[in-house]
Amino acid sequence: MRAALIISFFFLLLSSFNPLQKKTGYVYSATGKIHSSKLGVALTHEHLFSNFGAAPAAVAGYDSAALFNQVLPYLKKIKLQGVQSIFDCTGAYFGRDVKKLQTLSLLSGINIITNTGFYGAANDKYVPAFAFSMSEEEIANIWINEFKNGIDSTTIKPGFIKLAFDDGEPSAIDIKLFAAGLLTHKATGLTLQVHTGNNIAAAKKQLELLKKYQLHPSAWIWAHANLSTDMNFLIETAASGAWISLDGVKESTIGNYVRILKEFKSKNVLHKVLLSHDGNSFPRGAAIRPYDAIQTHLIPQLQKEGFSTADIYQLTVKNPCMAFQIRVRMNK
Ligand SMILES: [Zn+2]
Repeated sequence: MRAALIISFFFLLLSSFNPLQKKTGYVYSATGKIHSSKLGVALTHEHLFSNFGAAPAAVAGYDSAALFNQVLPYLKKIKLQGVQSIFDCTGAYFGRDVKKLQTLSLLSGINIITNTGFYGAANDKYVPAFAFSMSEEEIANIWINEFKNGIDSTTIKPGFIKLAFDDGEPSAIDIKLFAAGLLTHKATGLTLQVHTGNNIAAAKKQLELLKKYQLHPSAWIWAHANLSTDMNFLIETAASGAWISLDGVKESTIGNYVRILKEFKSKNVLHKVLLSHDGNSFPRGAAIRPYDAIQTHLIPQLQKEGFSTADIYQLTVKNPCMAFQIRVRMNK
């Protein structure tokens, strides 16, 4: 409790000086443009709700009352634990509903950031049929249009690009979607967050394409990197500037995260790590996948293992702010 108080005081002190403000830009949340230094403690890969597993659909069609009754109390609970911003990774065609995100943000007081892009994993089930015959430029234009004019006839803009690779050798469609994401990044400055997991071939392909399009690795987040079994490659990729998303935190796997984070700290790449749960507070026909374990279990354990308050601030506040600020990252 005392440690938690000291941490809160430290964060308060930092936010009153706000050392991030000078170095950072802005991001779009579901309620509008905000300075990225105002994100505070952020979870960078969660799902407030989704229809993952159901047939693809452009309109989500949730039971609104059931959704709000389940999600809003959950958000209020994690807000009390100190979470100030959530990056929602539910994509178009498996349940993205930006109006609901906006309402939940207004009612909970948490900044919620939504995404553009098409989800290329799950054997391309959620890639719309038209994308297969379109060029990468045509696909990019759909996403750029969401950034410029808003999503689904609203004024709500995406704050990042969400994409995904299937397992195995990267497929033509997954590569085309990624290339479209790079063009979108160049036009908008939105960071790419890409479901890659333990697919090292897909990670290498993405790094190769970033280079080909003259973009810096920091334009890219390797999502589900916690599943990678190649620690050396993870460290090397972080050192190149890419963002490493360790986003499957659960109470039962805390030890594993502590181990990986110690390794990253010893190699001086803690400043490239993003932490999250890949939780879901309204998964279709399933129990809540919690997204409170970082605050409840991981941070206290990291403190016990010698991580400083500055380290925790780096992981939970500074890194999300730097990763998601809207800025084109050309390779110099
Ligand atoms: Zn996810």
